[in-house]
Amino acid sequence: FESKLPNLGTSIFSQMTALANQFEAINLSQGFPEFDAPELLKKQLNHYVLEGVNQYSPSSGVPRLQQQIAQLAKRKYAAEIDAAQQVTVTSGATEALFVAIQALVREGDEVIVFDPAYDSYQPAIELAGGKSVNIALHAPSYAIDWQTVAAAINSKTRAIIINTPHNPSGKTLKQHDINALKALVIKHDLYLISDEVYEHITFDQQPHLSVLRDNELFARSFVISSFGKTFHSTGWKMGYCIAPAALAVEFRKIHQYVTFSSFTPAQHALADMLEQQGEHVDELSEFYQQKRDVLSKALKDSRFTILPSEGTYFLLLDYSDVSDLNDVEFCQWLVEQAGVAAIPLSVFYQQPSNDKVIRLCFAKNDATLLQAAEILCQL
Ligand code: PMP
Ligand code: GLN
Repeated sequence: FESKLPNLGTSIFSQMTALANQFEAINLSQGFPEFDAPELLKKQLNHYVLEGVNQYSPSSGVPRLQQQIAQLAKRKYAAEIDAAQQVTVTSGATEALFVAIQALVREGDEVIVFDPAYDSYQPAIELAGGKSVNIALHAPSYAIDWQTVAAAINSKTRAIIINTPHNPSGKTLKQHDINALKALVIKHDLYLISDEVYEHITFDQQPHLSVLRDNELFARSFVISSFGKTFHSTGWKMGYCIAPAALAVEFRKIHQYVTFSSFTPAQHALADMLEQQGEHVDELSEFYQQKRDVLSKALKDSRFTILPSEGTYFLLLDYSDVSDLNDVEFCQWLVEQAGVAAIPLSVFYQQPSNDKVIRLCFAKNDATLLQAAEILCQL
């Protein structure tokens, strides 16, 4: 059998969580909350299932959820979104990313991706017959040099994928980044896929610079988010894509043959949640900032160097003063011998990276974070 993805193995998230379970380690590797989804959300899901709301929804989503998503975009980013035409509900951001990439990328097209990159982008680009052009960003700043990006653009370039707040670095794009990005997208007639799944998790009073804030940039964009991050419900696999109507039409052609529609009872429950407890979204940044600070403070006297986290629920540690192992070996050692599971950063790079950096997920109870930090402080 000739594989279409010969170099692809099992995702690092599955691998590390399996090792964490095997060695009964504290699992700060795969990004998922230790705490539960809000009571109202669970109650409403239960309600709709028991009420018999169990059949297909319209392919692009339950209208009242589309409307709630559009309203949220208006409240947060002053965006005027046409719910019926521009919002498509998907089975997680992963589906939305896959579909947007299939809609955009043609045989031979190039897509600019910033490494360290979320692991689902590359296979989706390859399956579409495209090629990723990976621009590596490095610790500690993970800053984008827009001159380098400009130099990577040629007649085959079709799109750029950005992710802000960024997994795994925790970095957020600033206004000067958005300005530089917009200039390139418009000048070269490119499209943008903006992965904003951590949009409601930004720290130190920084606003999230959604592409939805900028009409000209949005006109060429697929903006993707996930309810998994926002409502502590990663297992529900519910997300969405907001795109201008002409792009949404193309997106929906593919979405209807990937899943057709997403889990109907969850769509109603999410609509209720947004309608009745919108404040949950507004409280998320403060909630996670406190977690970031608990973990950072507890690691202050360790030999790890803590890198800045401006958003997401991830914290990077430089372990140069702790071990000479490469990051994959170090994470293997850490889970087996020390009992803490983390993610090595090099797996998010296409070209080999020698940075000695690991990622910890702090979407955990304080007791778990303190227990992990106590172990890490002894290394
Ligand atoms: N993009 C990024 C950057 C992510 O971290 C995640 C979640 N791991 C996703 C996309 C996928 O989100 P979902 O679980 O909703 O498919
Ligand atoms: N997004 C999560 C992370 O970065 C994992 C998602 C997955 O397991 N595919 O850890």
